[in-house]
Amino acid sequence: MQLDDTIAQARADTDGIGAGNPRLIPIRPLAALTANEEEVARQMQVCNACRYCEGFCAVFPAMTRRLSFAKADIHYLANLCHNCGACLHACQYAPPHEFAVAVPQAMAKVRAQTYADYAWPPALGALYHRNGLTVALAAAGGLALFLLLALMLTGRLLHEPLAGNFYAVFPHNLMVAMFGAVFLYAVLALTLGAVRFWRDVTPGASAAGAAGEAAHNALALTYLGGGHGDGCNEADDAFTLARRRFHHLTFYGFMLCLASTSVATVYHYAFGWSAPYALTSLPVILGTVGGIGLLVGPAGLLWLNLRRAPLHGDAAQKTMDRAFIALLLLTSATGLALLIFRDTAAMALLLAVHLGVVMALFLTLPYGKFAHAVYRCAALLKFTIEKRLPSRLALGAD
Ligand code: SF4
Ligand code: SF4
Repeated sequence: MQLDDTIAQARADTDGIGAGNPRLIPIRPLAALTANEEEVARQMQVCNACRYCEGFCAVFPAMTRRLSFAKADIHYLANLCHNCGACLHACQYAPPHEFAVAVPQAMAKVRAQTYADYAWPPALGALYHRNGLTVALAAAGGLALFLLLALMLTGRLLHEPLAGNFYAVFPHNLMVAMFGAVFLYAVLALTLGAVRFWRDVTPGASAAGAAGEAAHNALALTYLGGGHGDGCNEADDAFTLARRRFHHLTFYGFMLCLASTSVATVYHYAFGWSAPYALTSLPVILGTVGGIGLLVGPAGLLWLNLRRAPLHGDAAQKTMDRAFIALLLLTSATGLALLIFRDTAAMALLLAVHLGVVMALFLTLPYGKFAHAVYRCAALLKFTIEKRLPSRLALGAD
């Protein structure tokens, strides 16, 4: 086939470029690719000859700096892709064309595998990869049940209204110990995964401005604008900014809930002001606004997930995606229910369920969709570093 001949010639012409020149990125020996990685490499070679989608996202400019795709390159590109679907809807080689180019789906399959491959410990990554929704719901249900039984055995499950005093149910130090442990575990597992990913994709020396640009692109979800500002494709050819908005609601809702907990911690330790706090206090306002964002954002993402075009994603990954969304929804729903009914006799029960769900959310963060946020930030940083370096291909267009 003419395209394959062109690509094979280009690869032969460029093999070894960079050797002996310290300014250029050395080409690493190719590791064996999985079938999904082979498919990304094949499609990227078609795209490299076509380049119609160059302005859509960071994947295509990063692709044009390569003529062949090693394992680490594919992992980098797969996490640089945020599955907006734009390149599929623009593609003249998409199925039923014989080239069968479906970049969002090919990237999604590899991306899901990277969550498991870089996870720590790897066995938990593989388990979550196979049975995400079951693991997430079992963890939430199991932890909530454990806390309910503990309350029942100590006679604190049934009580008169306690005016929202959570510490009468679970002492403050016990709550700090439980959440400190799961929070540190999540941070440790995510950090180890990120370090392994970062080492694997060999980013090169950092350049001035790269980190700032990457942080801006990550926080503003720049690429969810689709390169033209009109947004992503979801179910059809129409552009929509819905995904960017629901992602923002989810992310900033989560951050406001974390801010609420942080402010409450400062109140407790620095000022000696113990919970419960008034409805008009800063921790409650932050938690309420964050909780609403965390309810609306994931509900919207679930709605989009249910109606997305099949070629955008990997059907086998749906359970993992929905597990994360389900835990976010349960966290916000149980948190808001706890706030509404905190002055009633149901507070202990609601508190135990909410704590169980939140702990399950943090324990599973390193293994699912949240890991993508970490790897994607790393990939965006590599992209901003790499684009400041001279292309190793040294072609005229560069
Ligand atoms: S996705 Fe299709 S249209 Fe876009 S660059 Fe690749 S081959 Fe070309
Ligand atoms: S799906 Fe979107 S982010 Fe992914 S490669 Fe295509 S255009 Fe880029």
